[in-house]
Amino acid sequence: MGTWLEGKAPAEKIKEEVRQEVAHYQKTKDAVPGLVAILVGDNRSSQIYVRTKEKACQALGLWSEILRLPAETPAGELKAEIEKRNAADHIDGILVQLPLPSGLNAHEVIFWIRPDKDVDGIHPTSLGLLLENQPGLRPCTPLGIIELVKSTGVKIEGSDVVIIGRSMIVGKPLAALITNENGTVTTCHSKTRNLAQVAARADILIAAMGKPAFVGPDFVKPGAIVIDVGTNSFSDRERIKELFGDDPKREKDLQDKGYTVVGDVDPRAIDKAGYLTPVPGGVGLLTIAMLMRNTLEAFKRRHGF
Ligand code: NAP
Repeated sequence: MGTWLEGKAPAEKIKEEVRQEVAHYQKTKDAVPGLVAILVGDNRSSQIYVRTKEKACQALGLWSEILRLPAETPAGELKAEIEKRNAADHIDGILVQLPLPSGLNAHEVIFWIRPDKDVDGIHPTSLGLLLENQPGLRPCTPLGIIELVKSTGVKIEGSDVVIIGRSMIVGKPLAALITNENGTVTTCHSKTRNLAQVAARADILIAAMGKPAFVGPDFVKPGAIVIDVGTNSFSDRERIKELFGDDPKREKDLQDKGYTVVGDVDPRAIDKAGYLTPVPGGVGLLTIAMLMRNTLEAFKRRHGF
């Protein structure tokens, strides 16, 4: 039986470091990092995410703003709002909450953000710097995954790492980060053959697919570190019972909200893994902490501190 690798302690440690540095700059330079989150439309999950980010800013002493725009906002208007904030000296980080409504092209919109304010690390310039292993802002979730793995004391260098998923926000940048850390990476996707067998070779297995409990114990090498990135709203009561047994927290979720949040990994894989991150309470907490650290980094770089 492995150990649950909780995100709380490493996330709190990072946030406390950010809080102390922010307080230092407030005292010595009379300036604090500023973050704006742009939310277009009224996607329920996105509303929760931006509110969580705003609360984290408030708790750590950063200046923050949520810019809420209607779903039918024309591209030109959104571009003008981003450009205003590109030019604003009190704003160090700009993030556009994804997904965007169907009328807007995320690739084009991200391109409008000044790369030195791209605290989500997904602007093509940031991703190019990542591939070159040059200093720059890195995507928050992949950064958080690296922190979680490092918190176990297991070395990435020389490890066989399998990532399931190749999105631009998780899988692909994570593959580059791990390569830069001297891990040996295999990136899998929906066309990968013999997925379970490939996954079972991994010392470190990362699931970022968006498929509830898809990764079963047969995907896991005994003793492996398993990082579950998936966050899936799930309401199949029978399957939930099979996965979690009689769990009062899951039952309460189902009764209160009609769903519970399930990762991409079957929680019973804990019996085979060395470590497994819980969902919720794992990677997601690190993602927020890394966003705070990136905003502080962007502030320091822009001001030459
Ligand atoms: P995405 O853009 O939908 O990408 C999913 C990836 O999984 C794709 O590369 C897809 O392959 C692959 N995939 C899907 N089904 C597969 C299968 N049966 N076998 C092998 N590969 C398969 O997802 P994402 O944005 O990376 O997010 C993934 C999950 O992580 C979601 O649940 C999301 O909510 C969660 N997430 C959590 C956080 C956090 O902070 N906790 C942050 C970001 C994302 P193809 O490319 O071949 O289609």
